[in-house]
Amino acid sequence: MKRVTLTFDNGPDPDTTPVVLDILERHGILATFFLVGEKLRAGPDAQACAQRAADAGHWLGNHTDTHGTPLGLLDPPDGARAEIIRAQFSLGTAVHDDKLFRPFGGGGKLGPHLLNETAYEVLTRGGYTCVLWNSIPRDWDDPVGWLERAQAHCLDLDWALVVLHDIPGACAERLDEFLTWLKAEDFEIRQDFPDDCLPIKCGVASPAADDMVAGRHTPV
Ligand SMILES: [Zn+2]
Repeated sequence: MKRVTLTFDNGPDPDTTPVVLDILERHGILATFFLVGEKLRAGPDAQACAQRAADAGHWLGNHTDTHGTPLGLLDPPDGARAEIIRAQFSLGTAVHDDKLFRPFGGGGKLGPHLLNETAYEVLTRGGYTCVLWNSIPRDWDDPVGWLERAQAHCLDLDWALVVLHDIPGACAERLDEFLTWLKAEDFEIRQDFPDDCLPIKCGVASPAADDMVAGRHTPV
């Protein structure tokens, strides 16, 4: 049976996150929300969204504090420390025990722009789990057409880790349709992640982590 894990990045958004949570609840599906620290601190409505997600059993992860520049491109590089630690602090006690962290990809590409040496050190010493992805259907720039791309990824992969966004003008419009399709096609919808999307797991790095850190390899 093919597996699918769903993740929602860039929230919380007081208008859109509740819509996404309603749809997931209707389908009885649990996911992970990767939250931006600044958005969490925007006000009580944003915090209520995060709390509601955690109370429902969704996992909450860290998606940097400002979501401004991919950490591998930060100048000065030491800024990566605050990007990770401030957001983690803002997540408070609702955070997952494995300290889930998803780097900002700047359009979803994988590569050495995702982390730098400072970020690597903070994540490994701090016992974080770095959660990448293998499916980016680009819901944020195509809120209608993403569905067909997501379906194609799910059919192609044994275990798709899909990145969607709980922000305005992204996945919400066709999310119900996607979940209905996953169930009709008998996908196993899981909350955990495929190992090959976790270059750092509870602080322990795999060799694949080197490919995500700026300056470690010169591309072949
Ligand atoms: Zn993002």
